[in-house]
Amino acid sequence: MAEFDLIAHIAARAVRRADVALSIGDDAAVLQPRPGEQLVACCDTLNVGVHFPHDAEAADIGWKSLAVNLSDLAAMGATPAWALLSLSLPRADTEFVSGFMEGFAALADSAGVALVGGDTTSGPLAITVTALGWVPHGLALLRSGAKVGDVVCVSGTLGDAAAALHLYQHGARCEAPAQTALRARMARPGPRLDLGVALRGVAHAAIDVSDGLLADLAHVARASGVGIELDAACLPASNALRSVFDGDDCRRFMAIGGDDYELAFTLTAAAFETLCQTWDRQTLPITRIGRVVEGSGVVLRDAEGQVIDYGRAGWEHFAGAGP
Ligand code: ADP
Ligand code: MG
Repeated sequence: MAEFDLIAHIAARAVRRADVALSIGDDAAVLQPRPGEQLVACCDTLNVGVHFPHDAEAADIGWKSLAVNLSDLAAMGATPAWALLSLSLPRADTEFVSGFMEGFAALADSAGVALVGGDTTSGPLAITVTALGWVPHGLALLRSGAKVGDVVCVSGTLGDAAAALHLYQHGARCEAPAQTALRARMARPGPRLDLGVALRGVAHAAIDVSDGLLADLAHVARASGVGIELDAACLPASNALRSVFDGDDCRRFMAIGGDDYELAFTLTAAAFETLCQTWDRQTLPITRIGRVVEGSGVVLRDAEGQVIDYGRAGWEHFAGAGP
């Protein structure tokens, strides 16, 4: 039967781990968490036409479906361990599943994640991954811990994926190195797992930037009951982004573009200095971009201190669809 052939195909690519007592093949998986650890669980869906274009590479879809989940675990300071994969496919397309699993397994292997189960159904192309990981008891990084006086930092560079999407939507199919680099950020985001672990017990609050920096930091501000001020001049841009877009466009992509999967976090200035001494910033830059203040909301200021207003920023499903 096609469904079971596909499942066998998927199971063949799964990483093995000692803490998986029972994997794919029974009604459910049996997993063995270690004492002193808390289980961290998250789930994200990718829909064709919403989260990836109809002509996206199957391997990129596979990579990204796991990456967006591992990014959520990274933002909690969790170490990933296990994943479940729910696939809805228009037909039993072995070629698509092979390509998909190639990308999924490449990231699962490098992150040490065992695929332990899932579901395979027919329907419009949609992928839901559930990722499970662990943190030492009490050390999960929350959105709600930001404190007045903290500095606000972000990893890596911002805006590349949004810029790549913009170019794609405007029909630009250029193979210049800078555009290829932007596209790679959109297709294969790298979850910041090592940084998340390094921030355990160090950061007061953290979030992964998936809907846009301003929108995601607004969640931190709300959950923490504080305000956040950001300096536009400090936002980190890649050379690729700077080489393709002018300053204003770069700034817009960095501030409100989605799909970055960088970590934004707050911590004391002293903790930031200490982190800078131990964290390898060549491999992954960390940049101070603002501060936590009394009040509410997120404000972005230019070098003259003027507020830059992008209106209602950030990606929201069903936005504008209400009565
Ligand atoms: P059930 O009918 O009990 O839900 P299934 O036939 O759906 O069982 O699944 C059989 C086994 O294959 C289960 O262990 C399930 O977790 C696994 N499985 C099914 N689809 C996938 C998938 N897309 N990825 C990983 N494992 C899967
Ligand atoms: Mg099932």
